[in-house]
Amino acid sequence: MRAFGVRNSTPGVKDIVLLGATGSIGTQTLDVVRRCLPNAKVRALTGYGNVSKLTELVNEFKPDMVCVKDEKTADDLKKSLVPDFGTSLRIVTGDEGLIACAAEEHSAVVVNALVGRAGLAPTLAAIRAGKHVALANKESLVTAGALIMGEAREKGVRIMPIDSEHSAIWQCLQGNEGNEIEKIILTASGGPFRTWPSAKINKATAEDALKHPNWHMGPKITIDSATLMNKGLEYIEALHLFNVKPEQIEIVIHPQSIIHSMVQFTDGSVMAQMGLPDMRLPILYALTAPHRVKTDFPRLDLLKHKTLTFRKPNEKKFPCLAIAKEAAAIGGTAPAVMNAVNEWAVGRFLSGRIRFTDIAAIISRALKEYTVKPLKCAEDVWEAEKWAGELVEACQL
Ligand code: NDP
Ligand code: MG
Repeated sequence: MRAFGVRNSTPGVKDIVLLGATGSIGTQTLDVVRRCLPNAKVRALTGYGNVSKLTELVNEFKPDMVCVKDEKTADDLKKSLVPDFGTSLRIVTGDEGLIACAAEEHSAVVVNALVGRAGLAPTLAAIRAGKHVALANKESLVTAGALIMGEAREKGVRIMPIDSEHSAIWQCLQGNEGNEIEKIILTASGGPFRTWPSAKINKATAEDALKHPNWHMGPKITIDSATLMNKGLEYIEALHLFNVKPEQIEIVIHPQSIIHSMVQFTDGSVMAQMGLPDMRLPILYALTAPHRVKTDFPRLDLLKHKTLTFRKPNEKKFPCLAIAKEAAAIGGTAPAVMNAVNEWAVGRFLSGRIRFTDIAAIISRALKEYTVKPLKCAEDVWEAEKWAGELVEACQL
């Protein structure tokens, strides 16, 4: 298998669009811009419902365009902006607004830090508008990886992974263009329930699951990390980004989250990318690769960490990982159904309506009941998601 090709030119970091600016990756992206990319101009920012955070960011970064959930939120935003600035700002709303931001004319790079299914249409819109995409929204690749990679190739734009594992693999591949990958070793922290017995996991609350040991992330990915669905999503993400076969991906639990992932080449040599768990590093790399920009971020001190451990994931205790592998093997629209049901189930678990273990159970049931279709266009994804939504409604969860 050929290594993921990366051209040796810097992407245009001068003009960027940031989708999902108010979230965990969004605010860290702006911290990277603030500290490391003084010449970057943020052309468009999007939030959804968090008006106070978005107001702060708009006042600081002064974009030309901003997108929020709906007209009511847009009115709230207008009222809270600095008066003389608010008038020159174009405020757009909803799904169409997100697409308009993704295709904003001056930007060279779109950072997609949206969570969940909302990310796919803007990813495709950005590619179609000829933008490079720095992609945190893994759900885009999970549901429509083949379409995204195909359209990006056709348009000559790059998909630059922000997910730390995929950034690590990308970094390990630098200088190895043309060398074959034997195996990708995807590391996983194991989440907050790694050491819990199954009986205790059955009773886990949202509060328990939100306590991730190593990373501070948005609520959806934090629950995905606890179920190991996050690693399942990342497994599918890696299949698409690096064009490897399923048997070329090994997942290992590495609770310290210091090695972010590894690549084994056909000579047996293994490259690893290491660092403290700090998402600003993969974000910065996505915006400047293959160049490295000097930062004042905290440094890894190996003498403090001393022990790095690795073990096999327990797919019996965490069935979501096996479910994701199965959905990937089925292919077509199966990953889209899995992803949509997972998103709804996570929402219901967070609001206390279902148990932790119900998440895997309902996804399994959905995949059993669903008749998979080939994935030819984005509409096939929307249709699969509609089916998934109806199933979740029928379950009255
Ligand atoms: P957050 O929940 O923190 O942020 C999500 C962002 O998307 C917010 O700006 C939110 O707006 C906005 N948003 C939510 N729903 C919608 C919607 N329906 N339409 C438009 N915008 C919406 O998520 P994270 O930053 O944690 O994650 C973002 C993506 O990055 C996910 O795909 C995740 O898997 C991936 N990722 C995250 C990592 C992390 O460390 N956080 C690490 C690796 C990958 P508002 O807040 O205004 O409502
Ligand atoms: Mg990750």
